[in-house]
Amino acid sequence: MDDYDEMLDDAHENMPEEVFEEARFEIPEAETRKEGNKTILTNFADIAETLNRDHDHLSKFLQGQLGTAGHIDGKQLVLQGKSRRGLINAKIEQYTDTYVICDECGRPDTSLRKEKGVTIMKCEACGARDSLDE
Ligand SMILES: [Zn+2]
Repeated sequence: MDDYDEMLDDAHENMPEEVFEEARFEIPEAETRKEGNKTILTNFADIAETLNRDHDHLSKFLQGQLGTAGHIDGKQLVLQGKSRRGLINAKIEQYTDTYVICDECGRPDTSLRKEKGVTIMKCEACGARDSLDE
């Protein structure tokens, strides 16, 4: 697992700088649909890809924060029970603040990796490293 993370990190570092510059960062608004007693976040994959984060990581965060169970179904996240869209948007923003935006420079050009069981957020823009408690 660590080796795989290393590889991802290296791949990132080899990308040309311009890729990250002036990329306007907008999180897509959550689009939800009620289906029986479930709430379906229909653009879940778009959001995870915009944030450049592992789908499972975002999914687990949302389930924990919303206090419900769920599963990924293709590009959608299916959540048990009814969750308000406003709340889902707020949780996605919270996730972005915690796991995507660099505390030092405020840019989203970060990557996550595990080191000795601790999640480290590394910023590709300014080089800051931050350990996140999970
Ligand atoms: Zn930074």
